[in-house]
Amino acid sequence: MRRYQNIIDGQSVDGDLKPTPVFNPATGEAAAEVAMSGVAVVDKAVAAARRALPDWAATPPMKRARVFFNYKELLEANADKLARAISSQHGKTLADARGELARGIEVVEFVCGIPHLLRGDFTADVSADIDSFSWRQPLGVVAGITPFNFPAMVPMWMFPVAIACGNCFILKPSEKDPAASVLAVELLQEAGLPKGVIGLVMGGKEAVDALLAHPDVRAVSFVGSTDVARYIYTTAAAAGKRVQALGGAKNHMLVMPDAEVEKASDALMGAVYGSAGERCMAISVAVTIDDHTADRLLEAIAPKVKNIRIGPYDDPQAEMGPLITAAHRQKVIGHIDAGVKAGATLAVDGRGYRQPDHPNGFFLGGSVFDRVTPDMSIYTEEIFGPVLCIVRCKSFDEAVALINAHRYGNGAAIFTANGDAARQFCDRVHIGMVGVGVPIPVPAAFHSFGGWKQSLFGDHAIYGMEGVRFYTQLKTVTARWPTSIGRGAQFQFPA
Ligand code: NAD
Repeated sequence: MRRYQNIIDGQSVDGDLKPTPVFNPATGEAAAEVAMSGVAVVDKAVAAARRALPDWAATPPMKRARVFFNYKELLEANADKLARAISSQHGKTLADARGELARGIEVVEFVCGIPHLLRGDFTADVSADIDSFSWRQPLGVVAGITPFNFPAMVPMWMFPVAIACGNCFILKPSEKDPAASVLAVELLQEAGLPKGVIGLVMGGKEAVDALLAHPDVRAVSFVGSTDVARYIYTTAAAAGKRVQALGGAKNHMLVMPDAEVEKASDALMGAVYGSAGERCMAISVAVTIDDHTADRLLEAIAPKVKNIRIGPYDDPQAEMGPLITAAHRQKVIGHIDAGVKAGATLAVDGRGYRQPDHPNGFFLGGSVFDRVTPDMSIYTEEIFGPVLCIVRCKSFDEAVALINAHRYGNGAAIFTANGDAARQFCDRVHIGMVGVGVPIPVPAAFHSFGGWKQSLFGDHAIYGMEGVRFYTQLKTVTARWPTSIGRGAQFQFPA
Protein backbone atom coordinates (compact mmCIF):
# COMPACT_ATOMS: atom_id res chain seq x y z
CA MET A 1 0.00 0.00 0.00
CA ARG A 2 1.45 3.37 -1.00
CA ARG A 3 2.38 5.73 1.81
CA TYR A 4 2.27 9.44 0.89
CA GLN A 5 5.36 11.03 2.40
CA ASN A 6 6.58 14.46 3.39
CA ILE A 7 8.80 16.23 0.86
CA ILE A 8 11.67 18.18 2.40
CA ASP A 9 14.62 19.54 0.39
CA GLY A 10 13.29 17.60 -2.57
CA GLN A 11 13.56 14.30 -0.65
CA SER A 12 10.87 11.96 0.58
CA VAL A 13 10.78 11.93 4.39
CA ASP A 14 8.64 9.64 6.55
CA GLY A 15 6.35 10.98 9.29
CA ASP A 16 7.08 10.91 13.01
CA LEU A 17 3.52 9.93 13.99
CA LYS A 18 1.31 6.92 13.20
CA PRO A 19 0.22 6.88 9.52
CA THR A 20 -3.48 7.22 8.72
CA PRO A 21 -5.48 5.54 5.91
CA VAL A 22 -6.65 7.25 2.73
CA PHE A 23 -9.90 5.82 1.33
CA ASN A 24 -11.27 5.29 -2.13
CA PRO A 25 -14.69 6.87 -1.41
CA ALA A 26 -16.35 4.91 -4.24
CA THR A 27 -15.49 1.50 -2.78
CA GLY A 28 -15.14 2.46 0.87
CA GLU A 29 -11.76 0.68 1.00
CA ALA A 30 -8.50 2.02 2.41
CA ALA A 31 -6.41 2.45 -0.74
CA ALA A 32 -3.27 4.14 0.63
CA GLU A 33 -1.93 5.73 3.76
CA VAL A 34 -0.41 9.04 4.64
CA ALA A 35 2.65 9.73 6.81
CA MET A 36 1.42 11.81 9.74
CA SER A 37 3.87 14.37 11.08
CA GLY A 38 4.39 16.62 14.06
CA VAL A 39 6.97 19.02 15.48
CA ALA A 40 10.12 17.14 14.40
CA VAL A 41 9.16 16.96 10.72
CA VAL A 42 7.85 20.55 10.68
CA ASP A 43 11.15 21.75 12.18
CA LYS A 44 13.06 19.99 9.41
CA ALA A 45 10.82 21.42 6.70
CA VAL A 46 11.08 24.98 8.03
CA ALA A 47 14.89 24.66 8.39
CA ALA A 48 15.14 23.51 4.74
CA ALA A 49 12.98 26.43 3.62
CA ARG A 50 15.12 28.88 5.60
CA ARG A 51 18.27 27.57 3.92
CA ALA A 52 16.72 28.00 0.48
CA LEU A 53 15.29 31.45 1.21
CA PRO A 54 18.21 33.88 0.66
CA ASP A 55 19.00 32.65 -2.86
CA TRP A 56 15.36 32.36 -3.89
CA ALA A 57 14.41 35.79 -2.55
CA ALA A 58 17.37 37.24 -4.47
CA THR A 59 16.47 35.47 -7.71
CA PRO A 60 15.18 38.09 -10.18
CA PRO A 61 11.39 37.91 -10.62
CA MET A 62 11.81 37.19 -14.34
CA LYS A 63 13.81 34.05 -13.54
CA ARG A 64 11.22 33.01 -10.98
CA ALA A 65 8.53 33.49 -13.61
CA ARG A 66 10.37 31.16 -15.99
CA VAL A 67 9.94 28.29 -13.51
CA PHE A 68 6.19 28.88 -13.66
CA PHE A 69 6.15 28.96 -17.46
CA ASN A 70 7.73 25.47 -17.31
CA TYR A 71 5.33 24.46 -14.56
CA LYS A 72 2.26 25.40 -16.60
CA GLU A 73 3.43 23.15 -19.45
CA LEU A 74 4.12 20.27 -17.07
CA LEU A 75 0.71 20.64 -15.43
CA GLU A 76 -0.98 20.55 -18.80
CA ALA A 77 1.06 17.56 -19.96
CA ASN A 78 0.14 15.71 -16.75
CA ALA A 79 -3.47 16.91 -16.54
CA ASP A 80 -4.95 13.44 -16.89
CA LYS A 81 -2.69 11.99 -14.20
CA LEU A 82 -3.50 14.88 -11.89
CA ALA A 83 -7.24 14.59 -12.48
CA ARG A 84 -7.07 10.87 -11.62
CA ALA A 85 -5.06 11.64 -8.50
CA ILE A 86 -7.78 14.10 -7.43
CA SER A 87 -10.77 11.91 -8.28
CA SER A 88 -9.50 8.58 -6.98
CA GLN A 89 -9.16 9.96 -3.45
CA HIS A 90 -11.79 12.71 -3.41
CA GLY A 91 -14.45 10.84 -5.41
CA LYS A 92 -15.48 13.73 -7.71
CA THR A 93 -15.98 12.95 -11.41
CA LEU A 94 -13.00 13.27 -13.75
CA ALA A 95 -14.68 16.14 -15.62
CA ASP A 96 -15.04 18.00 -12.31
CA ALA A 97 -11.41 17.29 -11.39
CA ARG A 98 -10.26 18.64 -14.77
CA GLY A 99 -12.26 21.81 -14.09
CA GLU A 100 -10.60 22.22 -10.69
CA LEU A 101 -7.20 21.76 -12.26
CA ALA A 102 -7.91 24.31 -15.00
CA ARG A 103 -8.75 26.91 -12.32
CA GLY A 104 -5.50 26.10 -10.51
CA ILE A 105 -3.49 26.45 -13.73
CA GLU A 106 -5.02 29.92 -14.21
CA VAL A 107 -3.24 31.04 -11.04
CA VAL A 108 0.04 29.67 -12.43
CA GLU A 109 -0.59 31.69 -15.60
CA PHE A 110 -1.24 34.76 -13.48
CA VAL A 111 2.11 34.47 -11.68
CA CYS A 112 3.98 34.09 -14.98
CA GLY A 113 3.52 37.90 -15.01
CA ILE A 114 5.18 38.35 -11.61
CA PRO A 115 7.85 40.85 -12.82
CA HIS A 116 5.05 43.19 -13.82
CA LEU A 117 3.00 42.46 -10.69
CA LEU A 118 5.94 43.33 -8.43
CA ARG A 119 6.93 46.46 -10.36
CA GLY A 120 7.33 49.34 -7.92
CA ASP A 121 6.69 53.08 -7.91
CA PHE A 122 9.28 55.80 -8.36
CA THR A 123 8.95 59.53 -7.82
CA ALA A 124 11.78 61.88 -8.72
CA ASP A 125 12.23 65.02 -6.63
CA VAL A 126 9.84 64.44 -3.74
CA SER A 127 11.96 67.24 -2.32
CA ALA A 128 15.07 69.06 -3.48
CA ASP A 129 17.60 66.41 -4.62
CA ILE A 130 15.46 63.67 -3.05
CA ASP A 131 13.88 60.73 -4.90
CA SER A 132 11.51 58.16 -3.46
CA PHE A 133 10.77 54.61 -4.56
CA SER A 134 8.61 51.78 -3.20
CA TRP A 135 8.48 48.08 -3.97
CA ARG A 136 7.33 44.89 -2.36
CA GLN A 137 9.68 42.31 -0.85
CA PRO A 138 8.96 38.70 0.14
CA LEU A 139 8.02 37.83 3.72
CA GLY A 140 10.25 34.74 4.12
CA VAL A 141 9.01 31.26 4.97
CA VAL A 142 5.23 30.99 4.69
CA ALA A 143 2.81 28.09 5.14
CA GLY A 144 -0.47 26.94 3.57
CA ILE A 145 -3.01 24.58 5.12
CA THR A 146 -5.64 23.22 2.74
CA PRO A 147 -8.96 21.30 2.78
CA PHE A 148 -9.93 18.00 1.16
CA ASN A 149 -12.46 19.35 -1.29
CA PHE A 150 -10.09 20.91 -3.84
CA PRO A 151 -6.83 19.00 -3.32
CA ALA A 152 -5.15 20.61 -6.36
CA MET A 153 -6.85 23.97 -6.87
CA VAL A 154 -6.77 25.34 -3.33
CA PRO A 155 -3.02 24.65 -2.82
CA MET A 156 -2.53 26.30 -6.23
CA TRP A 157 -4.40 29.39 -4.99
CA MET A 158 -1.49 29.78 -2.58
CA PHE A 159 1.94 28.40 -3.46
CA PRO A 160 2.39 29.80 -7.00
CA VAL A 161 1.75 33.34 -5.72
CA ALA A 162 3.84 32.95 -2.56
CA ILE A 163 6.80 31.40 -4.39
CA ALA A 164 6.68 33.76 -7.38
CA CYS A 165 6.83 36.63 -4.87
CA GLY A 166 10.16 35.22 -3.58
CA ASN A 167 9.02 33.32 -0.48
CA CYS A 168 9.64 29.70 0.46
CA PHE A 169 6.43 27.77 1.03
CA ILE A 170 5.40 24.81 3.17
CA LEU A 171 2.18 23.08 2.18
CA LYS A 172 0.16 21.05 4.67
CA PRO A 173 -2.50 19.44 2.48
CA SER A 174 -5.58 17.57 3.69
CA GLU A 175 -4.67 14.14 5.03
CA LYS A 176 -7.84 12.77 3.38
CA ASP A 177 -6.69 13.06 -0.26
CA PRO A 178 -2.98 13.94 -0.49
CA ALA A 179 -2.17 12.41 -3.93
CA ALA A 180 -2.84 15.51 -6.06
CA SER A 181 -0.83 17.79 -3.77
CA VAL A 182 2.16 15.42 -3.88
CA LEU A 183 2.07 15.31 -7.67
CA ALA A 184 1.67 19.10 -7.94
CA VAL A 185 4.75 19.63 -5.72
CA GLU A 186 6.80 17.01 -7.60
CA LEU A 187 5.99 18.70 -10.92
CA LEU A 188 6.99 22.11 -9.56
CA GLN A 189 10.37 20.69 -8.59
CA GLU A 190 10.67 19.14 -12.07
CA ALA A 191 9.93 22.60 -13.52
CA GLY A 192 13.22 23.81 -12.05
CA LEU A 193 12.34 25.15 -8.61
CA PRO A 194 15.44 24.95 -6.38
CA LYS A 195 15.32 22.38 -3.59
CA GLY A 196 13.81 23.56 -0.31
CA VAL A 197 11.77 26.41 -1.83
CA ILE A 198 8.67 24.25 -1.54
CA GLY A 199 8.17 21.70 1.21
CA LEU A 200 5.28 19.34 1.86
CA VAL A 201 4.30 18.28 5.35
CA MET A 202 1.67 15.59 5.81
CA GLY A 203 -0.46 15.46 8.91
CA GLY A 204 -3.37 16.85 10.88
CA LYS A 205 -3.68 19.11 13.92
CA GLU A 206 -0.18 18.29 15.26
CA ALA A 207 1.49 19.42 12.03
CA VAL A 208 -0.71 22.52 11.84
CA ASP A 209 0.00 23.48 15.45
CA ALA A 210 3.74 23.05 14.90
CA LEU A 211 3.56 25.41 11.89
CA LEU A 212 1.50 27.97 13.85
CA ALA A 213 3.97 27.91 16.73
CA HIS A 214 7.17 28.01 14.64
CA PRO A 215 8.88 31.39 14.99
CA ASP A 216 10.33 31.23 11.46
CA VAL A 217 6.95 30.91 9.75
CA ARG A 218 6.02 34.47 8.84
CA ALA A 219 2.55 34.01 7.37
CA VAL A 220 -0.18 31.38 7.22
CA SER A 221 -2.83 30.86 4.55
CA PHE A 222 -5.67 28.57 5.51
CA VAL A 223 -8.73 27.25 3.69
CA GLY A 224 -11.14 24.93 5.50
CA SER A 225 -14.06 24.92 7.92
CA THR A 226 -14.97 28.01 9.95
CA ASP A 227 -14.19 26.71 13.44
CA VAL A 228 -10.69 25.70 12.36
CA ALA A 229 -10.27 28.95 10.37
CA ARG A 230 -11.09 30.98 13.50
CA TYR A 231 -8.61 28.91 15.52
CA ILE A 232 -5.87 29.35 12.90
CA TYR A 233 -6.52 33.08 12.70
CA THR A 234 -6.45 33.74 16.44
CA THR A 235 -3.50 31.42 17.14
CA ALA A 236 -1.30 32.59 14.28
CA ALA A 237 -2.14 36.28 14.72
CA ALA A 238 -1.35 36.03 18.45
CA ALA A 239 2.04 34.60 17.45
CA GLY A 240 2.64 37.70 15.31
CA LYS A 241 2.08 36.09 11.92
CA ARG A 242 0.20 37.47 8.97
CA VAL A 243 -2.93 35.31 8.44
CA GLN A 244 -5.64 34.78 5.87
CA ALA A 245 -8.08 32.06 6.97
CA LEU A 246 -10.95 31.20 4.66
CA GLY A 247 -13.83 29.31 6.25
CA GLY A 248 -17.17 27.69 5.49
CA ALA A 249 -20.17 28.95 3.57
CA LYS A 250 -23.90 28.89 2.99
CA ASN A 251 -24.48 30.28 -0.47
CA HIS A 252 -27.89 31.56 -1.57
CA MET A 253 -29.39 31.88 -5.02
CA LEU A 254 -32.26 34.35 -5.31
CA VAL A 255 -34.65 33.31 -8.09
CA MET A 256 -36.80 36.31 -8.97
CA PRO A 257 -40.36 35.94 -10.37
CA ASP A 258 -39.14 37.09 -13.81
CA ALA A 259 -36.29 34.53 -14.01
CA GLU A 260 -36.44 31.70 -16.52
CA VAL A 261 -37.18 28.89 -14.08
CA GLU A 262 -35.96 26.12 -16.36
CA LYS A 263 -32.56 27.81 -16.75
CA ALA A 264 -32.37 28.61 -13.03
CA SER A 265 -33.12 24.98 -12.14
CA ASP A 266 -30.38 23.74 -14.49
CA ALA A 267 -27.95 26.22 -12.92
CA LEU A 268 -28.96 24.95 -9.48
CA MET A 269 -28.37 21.33 -10.47
CA GLY A 270 -24.68 21.93 -11.17
CA ALA A 271 -24.21 24.39 -8.33
CA VAL A 272 -25.91 22.31 -5.63
CA TYR A 273 -25.11 18.73 -6.61
CA GLY A 274 -21.82 19.07 -8.52
CA SER A 275 -19.02 17.49 -6.49
CA ALA A 276 -21.79 16.11 -4.23
CA GLY A 277 -22.17 19.58 -2.72
CA GLU A 278 -18.65 19.50 -1.27
CA ARG A 279 -17.72 22.95 -2.59
CA CYS A 280 -17.34 26.13 -0.59
CA MET A 281 -19.12 27.95 -3.42
CA ALA A 282 -21.90 25.35 -3.77
CA ILE A 283 -25.38 26.83 -3.69
CA SER A 284 -27.23 25.33 -0.75
CA VAL A 285 -30.20 27.70 -0.46
CA ALA A 286 -32.63 28.79 -3.18
CA VAL A 287 -34.66 31.86 -2.19
CA THR A 288 -37.85 33.06 -3.83
CA ILE A 289 -39.95 36.15 -3.12
CA ASP A 290 -43.31 34.60 -4.05
CA ASP A 291 -44.90 31.18 -3.67
CA HIS A 292 -45.63 30.78 -7.38
CA THR A 293 -41.90 30.90 -8.28
CA ALA A 294 -41.06 28.49 -5.44
CA ASP A 295 -43.70 26.02 -6.70
CA ARG A 296 -42.42 26.23 -10.29
CA LEU A 297 -38.83 25.85 -9.17
CA LEU A 298 -39.59 22.79 -7.08
CA GLU A 299 -41.58 21.26 -9.89
CA ALA A 300 -38.65 21.81 -12.30
CA ILE A 301 -35.88 20.61 -10.03
CA ALA A 302 -37.37 17.63 -8.16
CA PRO A 303 -37.39 15.18 -11.13
CA LYS A 304 -33.87 16.28 -12.11
CA VAL A 305 -32.56 15.57 -8.61
CA LYS A 306 -34.19 12.14 -8.57
CA ASN A 307 -32.48 11.35 -11.89
CA ILE A 308 -28.91 12.47 -11.13
CA ARG A 309 -26.54 9.80 -12.44
CA ILE A 310 -24.52 8.81 -9.41
CA GLY A 311 -21.39 6.72 -9.76
CA PRO A 312 -17.65 6.33 -9.28
CA TYR A 313 -15.26 8.86 -10.82
CA ASP A 314 -14.18 6.56 -13.66
CA ASP A 315 -17.75 6.06 -14.90
CA PRO A 316 -17.94 8.57 -17.78
CA GLN A 317 -21.74 8.75 -17.35
CA ALA A 318 -21.53 9.77 -13.67
CA GLU A 319 -22.64 13.31 -12.79
CA MET A 320 -22.10 13.02 -9.04
CA GLY A 321 -19.69 10.92 -7.01
CA PRO A 322 -19.61 9.82 -3.37
CA LEU A 323 -18.89 11.92 -0.28
CA ILE A 324 -15.36 11.99 1.12
CA THR A 325 -15.75 9.62 4.11
CA ALA A 326 -18.32 7.39 5.77
CA ALA A 327 -18.34 9.78 8.75
CA HIS A 328 -19.11 12.78 6.54
CA ARG A 329 -21.92 10.85 4.81
CA GLN A 330 -23.39 10.10 8.23
CA LYS A 331 -23.09 13.77 9.23
CA VAL A 332 -25.01 14.89 6.13
CA ILE A 333 -27.73 12.31 6.86
CA GLY A 334 -27.88 13.69 10.42
CA HIS A 335 -28.51 17.18 9.02
CA ILE A 336 -31.33 15.84 6.81
CA ASP A 337 -32.89 14.02 9.79
CA ALA A 338 -32.76 17.28 11.77
CA GLY A 339 -34.49 19.15 8.93
CA VAL A 340 -37.33 16.62 8.87
CA LYS A 341 -37.65 16.84 12.64
CA ALA A 342 -37.75 20.65 12.50
CA GLY A 343 -40.73 20.50 10.13
CA ALA A 344 -39.25 21.34 6.71
CA THR A 345 -40.83 19.51 3.74
CA LEU A 346 -38.41 16.89 2.39
CA ALA A 347 -39.55 16.92 -1.23
CA VAL A 348 -36.72 14.64 -2.44
CA ASP A 349 -35.06 12.26 0.01
CA GLY A 350 -31.60 10.97 -0.98
CA ARG A 351 -30.87 9.18 2.29
CA GLY A 352 -31.77 5.70 1.13
CA TYR A 353 -29.62 5.71 -2.01
CA ARG A 354 -27.24 2.77 -2.56
CA GLN A 355 -24.92 2.61 -5.57
CA PRO A 356 -25.68 -0.82 -7.07
CA ASP A 357 -22.08 -1.66 -8.11
CA HIS A 358 -20.43 -0.16 -5.01
CA PRO A 359 -22.65 -0.85 -2.00
CA ASN A 360 -19.87 0.08 0.44
CA GLY A 361 -19.05 3.41 -1.21
CA PHE A 362 -19.87 6.69 0.56
CA PHE A 363 -22.63 7.58 -1.91
CA LEU A 364 -25.70 9.60 -1.04
CA GLY A 365 -28.61 10.66 -3.25
CA GLY A 366 -29.59 14.29 -3.81
CA SER A 367 -32.16 15.82 -1.43
CA VAL A 368 -34.42 18.87 -1.66
CA PHE A 369 -36.10 20.59 1.26
CA ASP A 370 -38.95 23.05 0.73
CA ARG A 371 -40.44 25.49 3.26
CA VAL A 372 -37.19 25.85 5.18
CA THR A 373 -37.19 28.64 7.77
CA PRO A 374 -34.14 30.60 8.98
CA ASP A 375 -34.26 29.13 12.49
CA MET A 376 -33.73 25.53 11.29
CA SER A 377 -30.27 23.97 11.57
CA ILE A 378 -30.43 22.88 7.90
CA TYR A 379 -30.46 26.64 7.17
CA THR A 380 -28.02 27.91 9.77
CA GLU A 381 -25.35 25.16 9.37
CA GLU A 382 -23.12 24.36 6.41
CA ILE A 383 -24.20 20.83 5.35
CA PHE A 384 -21.47 20.31 2.70
CA GLY A 385 -23.48 17.63 0.92
CA PRO A 386 -26.00 17.20 -1.93
CA VAL A 387 -28.88 19.01 -0.21
CA LEU A 388 -30.88 22.04 -1.40
CA CYS A 389 -33.03 24.14 0.95
CA ILE A 390 -35.78 26.33 -0.53
CA VAL A 391 -36.68 29.37 1.58
CA ARG A 392 -39.85 31.25 0.63
CA CYS A 393 -39.63 35.00 1.33
CA LYS A 394 -42.30 37.59 0.65
CA SER A 395 -40.28 40.45 -0.85
CA PHE A 396 -36.91 41.38 -2.35
CA ASP A 397 -36.03 43.32 0.80
CA GLU A 398 -36.80 40.31 2.98
CA ALA A 399 -34.62 38.09 0.77
CA VAL A 400 -31.67 40.50 0.97
CA ALA A 401 -32.11 40.84 4.75
CA LEU A 402 -32.15 37.01 5.05
CA ILE A 403 -28.86 36.68 3.16
CA ASN A 404 -27.27 39.50 5.11
CA ALA A 405 -28.28 38.02 8.46
CA HIS A 406 -26.50 34.72 7.76
CA ARG A 407 -23.17 34.32 9.53
CA TYR A 408 -21.47 33.18 6.32
CA GLY A 409 -20.76 35.52 3.43
CA ASN A 410 -18.89 33.60 0.74
CA GLY A 411 -21.03 33.61 -2.40
CA ALA A 412 -24.55 34.55 -3.55
CA ALA A 413 -26.27 34.68 -6.93
CA ILE A 414 -29.34 36.27 -8.46
CA PHE A 415 -31.30 34.98 -11.44
CA THR A 416 -33.52 37.67 -12.92
CA ALA A 417 -34.41 39.46 -16.16
CA ASN A 418 -34.41 42.82 -14.33
CA GLY A 419 -31.18 44.81 -14.41
CA ASP A 420 -32.32 47.09 -11.61
CA ALA A 421 -32.98 44.13 -9.26
CA ALA A 422 -29.58 42.65 -10.17
CA ARG A 423 -27.83 45.93 -9.50
CA GLN A 424 -29.60 46.44 -6.18
CA PHE A 425 -28.69 42.89 -5.20
CA CYS A 426 -24.97 43.36 -6.00
CA ASP A 427 -24.92 46.61 -4.09
CA ARG A 428 -26.77 45.50 -0.98
CA VAL A 429 -25.72 41.91 -0.18
CA HIS A 430 -23.08 41.43 2.51
CA ILE A 431 -21.28 38.80 0.47
CA GLY A 432 -17.74 38.62 -0.94
CA MET A 433 -18.47 37.03 -4.33
CA VAL A 434 -21.71 37.74 -6.19
CA GLY A 435 -23.08 36.15 -9.37
CA VAL A 436 -25.62 37.67 -11.73
CA GLY A 437 -26.89 34.80 -13.84
CA VAL A 438 -23.76 32.95 -12.70
CA PRO A 439 -24.43 30.37 -9.99
CA ILE A 440 -20.82 29.78 -8.85
CA PRO A 441 -19.06 33.14 -9.19
CA VAL A 442 -15.48 32.05 -8.43
CA PRO A 443 -13.36 35.04 -9.48
CA ALA A 444 -10.76 34.66 -12.24
CA ALA A 445 -7.11 34.37 -11.19
CA PHE A 446 -6.35 38.06 -11.80
CA HIS A 447 -9.20 39.06 -9.48
CA SER A 448 -9.17 37.62 -5.94
CA PHE A 449 -11.20 35.06 -4.01
CA GLY A 450 -12.63 35.76 -0.59
CA GLY A 451 -15.84 35.86 1.40
CA TRP A 452 -17.12 38.19 4.11
CA LYS A 453 -18.24 37.60 7.68
CA GLN A 454 -17.31 34.15 9.04
CA SER A 455 -16.20 32.95 5.60
CA LEU A 456 -12.87 34.80 5.89
CA PHE A 457 -10.78 35.82 8.88
CA GLY A 458 -8.03 38.28 8.02
CA ASP A 459 -7.64 41.26 5.75
CA HIS A 460 -6.63 39.78 2.44
CA ALA A 461 -8.52 37.63 -0.02
CA ILE A 462 -6.57 34.91 -1.79
CA TYR A 463 -4.71 34.93 -5.17
CA GLY A 464 -4.76 37.84 -7.66
CA MET A 465 -3.31 41.14 -6.43
CA GLU A 466 -4.67 40.44 -2.92
CA GLY A 467 -2.43 37.36 -2.89
CA VAL A 468 0.58 39.35 -4.04
CA ARG A 469 -0.03 41.89 -1.27
CA PHE A 470 -0.52 39.15 1.32
CA TYR A 471 2.79 37.45 0.52
CA THR A 472 4.89 40.63 0.33
CA GLN A 473 5.72 43.64 2.43
CA LEU A 474 6.06 47.19 1.22
CA LYS A 475 9.37 49.00 1.42
CA THR A 476 9.81 52.68 0.59
CA VAL A 477 13.19 54.33 0.15
CA THR A 478 13.71 58.07 0.34
CA ALA A 479 17.13 58.82 -1.20
CA ARG A 480 19.29 61.91 -1.44
CA TRP A 481 22.31 62.11 -3.65
CA PRO A 482 23.00 65.72 -2.93
CA THR A 483 24.92 68.01 -5.18
CA SER A 484 25.69 70.05 -2.08
CA ILE A 485 26.00 68.60 1.41
CA GLY A 486 26.54 70.38 4.70
CA ARG A 487 23.48 72.50 5.46
CA GLY A 488 23.91 71.59 9.11
CA ALA A 489 21.61 69.61 11.41
CA GLN A 490 17.83 70.11 10.85
CA PHE A 491 15.61 69.37 13.86
CA GLN A 492 12.15 70.02 12.47
CA PHE A 493 10.09 67.12 10.94
CA PRO A 494 11.16 66.72 7.28
CA ALA A 495 8.73 68.57 5.00
P1 NAD B 1 -11.21 21.17 7.82
O1 NAD B 1 -11.33 22.48 8.49
O2 NAD B 1 -11.66 19.96 8.55
O3 NAD B 1 -9.67 20.89 7.43
C1 NAD B 1 -8.90 21.84 6.71
C2 NAD B 1 -7.43 21.67 7.08
O4 NAD B 1 -7.26 21.93 8.48
C3 NAD B 1 -6.90 20.26 6.84
O5 NAD B 1 -5.60 20.37 6.31
C4 NAD B 1 -6.90 19.63 8.22
O6 NAD B 1 -5.87 18.68 8.39
C5 NAD B 1 -6.66 20.82 9.15
N1 NAD B 1 -7.36 20.69 10.44
C6 NAD B 1 -8.53 20.05 10.69
N2 NAD B 1 -8.87 20.17 11.98
C7 NAD B 1 -7.91 20.92 12.57
C8 NAD B 1 -7.70 21.40 13.90
N3 NAD B 1 -8.57 21.14 14.87
N4 NAD B 1 -6.61 22.14 14.14
C9 NAD B 1 -5.73 22.43 13.17
N5 NAD B 1 -5.87 21.99 11.89
C10 NAD B 1 -6.94 21.25 11.59
O7 NAD B 1 -11.96 21.30 6.42
P2 NAD B 1 -12.25 20.16 5.35
O8 NAD B 1 -13.31 19.25 5.88
O9 NAD B 1 -10.98 19.56 4.84
O10 NAD B 1 -12.83 21.05 4.15
C11 NAD B 1 -14.17 21.43 4.06
C12 NAD B 1 -14.39 22.83 4.60
O11 NAD B 1 -13.56 23.75 3.91
C13 NAD B 1 -15.80 23.34 4.38
O12 NAD B 1 -16.23 24.00 5.54
C14 NAD B 1 -15.67 24.31 3.23
O13 NAD B 1 -16.64 25.33 3.17
C15 NAD B 1 -14.33 24.87 3.48
N6 NAD B 1 -13.76 25.46 2.29
C16 NAD B 1 -13.75 26.81 2.21
C17 NAD B 1 -13.26 27.41 1.08
C18 NAD B 1 -13.24 28.91 0.95
O14 NAD B 1 -12.65 29.37 0.02
N7 NAD B 1 -13.84 29.66 1.85
C19 NAD B 1 -12.75 26.63 0.03
C20 NAD B 1 -12.76 25.25 0.16
C21 NAD B 1 -13.27 24.68 1.30
